[in-house]
Amino acid sequence: METSEGYRNVPFITLSLSEPKPHIWITLSGCNFKCKGCFSIARDPVGESMTVNELINFINRSNWIYSNITPLEGAIITGGEPTLDKNFLLDLVRKLKTKVDVKHITLSTNGYLLDKEYVRVLKGSGLNEVKLDIKAYTNSIHRWYTGMSNRTVLDAARHLCESELEFRVETVLMPGIVEVEEIERIASFLAQIDPGIKYKIIKFAPGEAREKVTRRPTDEKIERAVNSASKYLRNVAGGKACVQEFSTPEPKEENTKKWIRVYPDMKTEAIIAKPGGFEVS
Ligand code: SF4
Repeated sequence: METSEGYRNVPFITLSLSEPKPHIWITLSGCNFKCKGCFSIARDPVGESMTVNELINFINRSNWIYSNITPLEGAIITGGEPTLDKNFLLDLVRKLKTKVDVKHITLSTNGYLLDKEYVRVLKGSGLNEVKLDIKAYTNSIHRWYTGMSNRTVLDAARHLCESELEFRVETVLMPGIVEVEEIERIASFLAQIDPGIKYKIIKFAPGEAREKVTRRPTDEKIERAVNSASKYLRNVAGGKACVQEFSTPEPKEENTKKWIRVYPDMKTEAIIAKPGGFEVS
């Protein structure tokens, strides 16, 4: 088994302590996109530089101190962009299975570096699921918003579908930028691959964005987008972006039980997770 000698910066990990499905979110910082509306601090290479073995030790130590639940039901590897160092990610997936005893591993990615061969070896390493963000179908919009072409992202959707990994796609609806018509283009494209692909349309949240490029879409607009996409795809949902909030100085007990963010120095912070889940990328 190939061991990665590489390093990735890790700002924190997040433990969900809710049983019966305890999960861990692993944030690898640094990204090859520069999305104007990105709300993740992990777009920049912040945090502590770690090898895979150091990261696995950090995860095991954090889980032992704050949760002590094994096996962990799931791990979500997110960012930033987790695929920037391909060997690092492969080694991390393998060791999450063998050294942390995680049952189900999800990769959250912008898909830019997911070529066919890499998808194949990721599956072979033990990865179970991929959540692919398609920011836009029209390449000029994608380039404007992310700084990069979407050609390999769209190819990645095909490779992932062929791979038979569990697979779902998300797009953020941004009024005036990624509109209902653009969502329909993405849905039409995905339907040509497989009309059963799961597709979720997320609300843009200007409060958390680096650049307030647009406003929050209305519920009515999200509903229209869901209806448009549903003309092509069988599994379409609309929802909020996962919202995360740090606890107030005097957090309510019921809000602080389930989520703990652990920093590399082992300091912690309670997280309030709202319906719709919690994701960084
Ligand atoms: S939204 Fe995701 S892909 Fe875009 S810059 Fe932020 S971390 Fe990178």
